[in-house]
Amino acid sequence: MGSLARQDATSGDAPLDHDFHSAWGSVYTNRSTVGDGAILPLWQQYAVDKAAVDRKYQLLLNEYTDLFTKVFGGYYPISMHAHATDALMPTTIASLILNTAATSPLVLDSPVLRPKADEKPEETGMRVRDFALNFLGWTETHILAPTFIVADNIYGAGYGPMAHASKEWETSAIAAGPKPVVVNMREADEETLNAQFAEAKAKGCIAVVFDMVSTEDGLVFTPEKFGLVKACCARNRLLLIVDETMTAMRCGAPFAFQRPEYARQVIEYQPDLVIFGKGIGVSGIAISFGGVMTKGLTYTKSEDIRQTIRFWRALVSRPIRLPILLEALSILRASVEENWPEQSERIGEAMREVLHELEPSTKEPGAVQGLGAVIAIDRDIALKYRVMCAIRRRSPWARLLPKLSSTSADREGLMKHVFGKESKGQRQALTLEAEQAGAIPLWCFICGIEATSEDWCRTCYLSYCNNEVCVQAFHRHACI
Ligand SMILES: [Zn+2]
Ligand SMILES: [Zn+2]
Repeated sequence: MGSLARQDATSGDAPLDHDFHSAWGSVYTNRSTVGDGAILPLWQQYAVDKAAVDRKYQLLLNEYTDLFTKVFGGYYPISMHAHATDALMPTTIASLILNTAATSPLVLDSPVLRPKADEKPEETGMRVRDFALNFLGWTETHILAPTFIVADNIYGAGYGPMAHASKEWETSAIAAGPKPVVVNMREADEETLNAQFAEAKAKGCIAVVFDMVSTEDGLVFTPEKFGLVKACCARNRLLLIVDETMTAMRCGAPFAFQRPEYARQVIEYQPDLVIFGKGIGVSGIAISFGGVMTKGLTYTKSEDIRQTIRFWRALVSRPIRLPILLEALSILRASVEENWPEQSERIGEAMREVLHELEPSTKEPGAVQGLGAVIAIDRDIALKYRVMCAIRRRSPWARLLPKLSSTSADREGLMKHVFGKESKGQRQALTLEAEQAGAIPLWCFICGIEATSEDWCRTCYLSYCNNEVCVQAFHRHACI
């Protein structure tokens, strides 16, 4: 084992390195969460007596749900998925919201609407469904071919209907399902937005989806736009979904829209649903019961909320596997202990200072985009400093997604061990470790996808994929 492992064991915080790709932002920390004092005994028990830990499953799932809801200011992790793309499916969202309406106090507490023991099941089904459609302002079209309205700069998920909105041809070429309605939310005024939302709703749109920081160019959704979109959603009875896969914990608040400047906008409504991603151990959909649409369902009692969550989770065999649940719980606990949202703000400042010092041109307005520890810069700058970024082959922007440890806010450390000549030692240590393990650097330095080349740079600890463009660009890099 090299010096890395030793440093790890003694300091708790892993040393800095030049991996700002962080698995597309899904790695929040280099620190192992297995050692969490409260969870470690469960892992140890799991290794010798799996069944005993399995018997605590509901207890642990409830603990996770409670902690998530506390950390994310009242958002309940109702639906769990392997990947955020699976969560952001119009059909999945439609079923989820129908279930939430059908099991709401408006139905279950109503003598007229609630299921009766002495009636035919079809009658109950029809009545509850009609109520839900009426509440949501839906027709058969919304049920049979639901779609989303998306902001035109949203990245478009990797596959399925959202992939239609991608600007990368490899993604849009495999899109399937009804196309989302793409709206320029950055520039449209209230009247235009309302008209576009109304037209889309009539054609089967059920929700508006956007991200707070564009995955394409790092541009931030302004608080004014956020308020406007919320108001237009309310007016057209559209669900508001924010994709926080990249921005949760990284942008100075648990969810980026919980930053004070956003929270002030049209406070009577919140986004209904939030898509969360693997960084917090599992992907899925979080629901607020104070949302643009969900608020009207009058969920006020905790027991009613627990019940609808139980109903939804009962539709799948186990919403989340036990080892994943343990890890997700540790990650949430670490986020609280280390205050990642606050940390991300400091990291963002330190990173921006370093970039300004190294490249004075980045002081120009608009040269550095993003929010907190989501930083977007000209890709040539990233290439120049030989740092791995979450990058797309055809995008002029590179996204830097540092780990949320305190070391990432250490300006001197960043200068020395990441961007500067002195990073050579750290890169050497990583190379040694990789060669001993038969591994290679994870990401293509040029395009951000999985690296495949065995002929990688041992000096810089950088690799590349087999795409012709990447091979050529890689061989032009100047070694440190
Ligand atoms: Zn590549
Ligand atoms: Zn090199």
